[in-house]
Amino acid sequence: MSPAINIAIIGAGVVGSAFINQLKNVSSLFDFNVIYLAKSKTALISYDFKPLNLTDWRADLDNSSSNPLTEEEILKFLKNSPLPAVLVDNTSSADIAAAYPLFVSNGISVATPNKKAFSGELGLWSEIFKASKKLSGGLVYHEATVGAGLPVISTINDLVNTGDKIEKIEGIFSGSLSYIFNLFSTVKPNDIKFSEIVSKAKELGYTEPDPRDDLSGLDVARKVTILARLSGFNVESPASFPVDSLVPQELETLETSDEFLSRLHEFDSQLGNLKEQAASEDKVLRFVGTVDFPNNKVSVGFGKYDASHPFASLQGSDNVISIKTERYQNPLIIQGAGAGAEVTAAGVLADVIKIGQRV
Ligand code: NAD
Repeated sequence: MSPAINIAIIGAGVVGSAFINQLKNVSSLFDFNVIYLAKSKTALISYDFKPLNLTDWRADLDNSSSNPLTEEEILKFLKNSPLPAVLVDNTSSADIAAAYPLFVSNGISVATPNKKAFSGELGLWSEIFKASKKLSGGLVYHEATVGAGLPVISTINDLVNTGDKIEKIEGIFSGSLSYIFNLFSTVKPNDIKFSEIVSKAKELGYTEPDPRDDLSGLDVARKVTILARLSGFNVESPASFPVDSLVPQELETLETSDEFLSRLHEFDSQLGNLKEQAASEDKVLRFVGTVDFPNNKVSVGFGKYDASHPFASLQGSDNVISIKTERYQNPLIIQGAGAGAEVTAAGVLADVIKIGQRV
C-alpha cells in the first residue's frame, strides 16, 4: 500500500480549481486523500476521513448543504486525522492566514499561494516559522506566493540554508506591470502612452478588475517583503519601506475603475518624461522590487536598464528575478510566467508533494 496523506483544501476559485484538477491526475508515490474541500459558502467534509470522491467535485460542492467549517473547527477535525494532515489554503483570506500558527503548532502542514501571512506583520511570520521549527510542528511551504510556480522561494531557501549570503535581489514581480512596461518602454523608442497600455492590459485581463490594485505597487511590495524576510532582512511590513505608486494622487480616491481609466491620460506626460529620459541614455524603464543588503535598503519603484540587461528583453507578462549572492557574483536569473492558474496550482501541488515526502 502506498503511503498517504490527508488534505484539506480551502478555496476553489481560479487557482483552487486548477489545483484540484491537477491533484486528481497526478501520479505519485503517495495517495493524496482529500477529506475537506470548501469555498466561501459551501463545503464537502469527510468526517470519517475516507477520501472524498472528486469525480464531480464542482457540482458536488455547489450543491452541498454543508457550510464551511471555521478555522477552529477545521483544526479540531484535522487533529483527529489518522494520517498526516496538510491544509492547502487557496484563498486570499487574512483570517485563514492568521490561523496558520495554530495549525502548524498542532502538527498540521500548510501549503499555500496566499501571500497574506508571509507579507503581513512580522509577528505573524515569526509565529508561523517558530511553530514549524518545533519537532511536533507542521511544515510550511509557500512557493507560489512569489512568481507563481517559478522556483524563487525554494532557490532562496537553498542558497541561505547552504550558507550563501544574499547581496541583492532585484525583480519584476508583477505580471500586469511586466506587460505594461515591456510595451511602454522599449529598446527602440516608441510614442505609446502609458494610459493606452493600461487600458489594453485591463481589456486583455492582465490586471485586477481595478488596475489601481496593480499600479499601487502594494502587490509587488508584499512579494518583496517575503523575499527580504527569507534572505534575512527583518522587514516589519510592506508599508515600512518606500513604494512608488503608479496611481496619480489625484486619481486615488475616484470611485470606479472606469473613471480612473478615463482620466489616466491627464498624467501621461509624467511617465512619458521618465521613459524619454531613460531612452536618451539608451535604457528602458522597468518597475522593480529590490532587496539591497550592502545599502540596507528594500524598495519598490522605477529602474533604468541597458538594452543588454535581462529585464530589458522580457516578453509578455513574464516575471524575472535576479539574485546576486556571495557565490553568484554574476546574478542567478529565474524567468518565466509569474501568474496564471496552471503554473500557480503546480507550485502549490509541488509543495504538497514535498510535504508528503517529509512527513
Ligand atoms: P479566487 O478569488 O478565484 O478564489 C478564491 C477562492 O477562495 C474562492 O473559491 C472563494 O470562495 C474561496 N474563499 C475565500 N475565503 C474563503 C473562506 N474563508 N473559506 C472558504 N473559502 C474561501 O482567487 P485565486 O485567483 O484562485 O487566488 C487564490 C490565491 O492564490 C490568492 O491568495 C492569490 O493571491 C494567489 N495567487 C494567485 C495567482 C493567480 O495567477 N491567480 C498567482 C499567484 C498567487
